[in-house]
Amino acid sequence: MKKKRVSVLGATGSIGKNALDVIRADKDAFSPVLFSANSRAGQLASLSAEFPEAKVAFSGRREAAEAAGLDGRKNVFLGANALCEAIAEAGADVTLNGISGAAGLEPSIAALNSGSALALANKESIVMAGALVLKTAASRALPVIPVDSEHSAIFNLLRRQGREGLKELLLTASGGPFRTWSAERLKTATPQDALAHPTWNMGRKITIDSATLANKGLEVIEAARLFDIGADDIKVIVHPQSVIHSMIRMNNGAVYAQLSRPDMRLPIHEALRFPEAVPALCEELEFEGLCLNFEKPDLVRFPMLSLAYDALRAGGRYTIAYNAANECAVAAFLAGKISFTGISDVCRQTLDMDWSGEADDLPSILESDRLSRAASMV
Ligand code: NAD
Ligand code: MG
Repeated sequence: MKKKRVSVLGATGSIGKNALDVIRADKDAFSPVLFSANSRAGQLASLSAEFPEAKVAFSGRREAAEAAGLDGRKNVFLGANALCEAIAEAGADVTLNGISGAAGLEPSIAALNSGSALALANKESIVMAGALVLKTAASRALPVIPVDSEHSAIFNLLRRQGREGLKELLLTASGGPFRTWSAERLKTATPQDALAHPTWNMGRKITIDSATLANKGLEVIEAARLFDIGADDIKVIVHPQSVIHSMIRMNNGAVYAQLSRPDMRLPIHEALRFPEAVPALCEELEFEGLCLNFEKPDLVRFPMLSLAYDALRAGGRYTIAYNAANECAVAAFLAGKISFTGISDVCRQTLDMDWSGEADDLPSILESDRLSRAASMV
């Protein structure tokens, strides 16, 4: 079997590390051609030593690259603009985008423009520019394969079940660390409290997003764009065990679900090997003693979820503004500048402004992102 040439963007993060586990465990299937990161240059240097054929792109501080011995080496791309250049030269069959935040958008487009399939963990690419990403992929007949566990589940369910007779998507949410906290107590939540996720071990930004339910809000928008379905036909259900990754409900009443242990290696492996079936790497789910619970999300305590539905329904540039305001507010919360409940206040104020009018090409999307950030300064 010919090995698939794989680029891993955001190789030092939580998605990146899980992807490396998959690549090492299924080494006859993959040949890494590019690793990228924005910090932890030392980890990138170790990857370069482990996979000497792969290119390395580091967009963080030059001094950090020098200290890690990356500077001046063959196959190394340094600087903010070097990542898209490295993607263009890597010649990957599939690119896993595990970059966090809006910084992932341009690399997603660059990967598709290089002729690579896109295994997409970076949900922000779709929230900001779903139509552009999907149009770029379609024009080159390349697949965009979701890695987010909920979307991977729905992608697989729809592939197997077909869309005929589909009534709605049911996205599951763990509920995050504050699922049982009162509105009063939420006002006192610290970054440390918010970073203690009950079921998933992830990067800081997505972990805070899971605590506010902004992550589920971003995922509702991601699902609407990826699966071309309206806001009214996407429901969120809190399921604290994170065993059911999502479900589809059919008009005839049947509900199909995907269940597995909460382990990102499965959706990553499936996306990297798509459309082939994957051999088992993860531990099997045990049913003995398993208890599954479900509750309605509380939109009063977690307004970020209802703001996402509002932004999706409003169209125009509202989802770009939602994403940008949230990124600014999360950074401010982590820096101790605003309270936990201040995150949704910042987003509400930004979304109260006028973001009607479309942004459909890359320059206008990036400009709308910049304007939204300026409007969300805290
Ligand atoms: P993380 O913070 O652990 O890692 C982010 C990676 O992106 C790092 O390698 C970092 O160096 C790189 N990066 C950060 N800023 C960058 C920039 N400006 N330019 C280039 N590279 C940059 O994040 P994560 O938890 O791995 O999440 C990555 C993405 O995957 C996010 O969009 C997140 O929503 C999504 N996702 C993550 C998980 C998970 O389990 N961690 C699950 C579903 C979806
Ligand atoms: Mg998810």
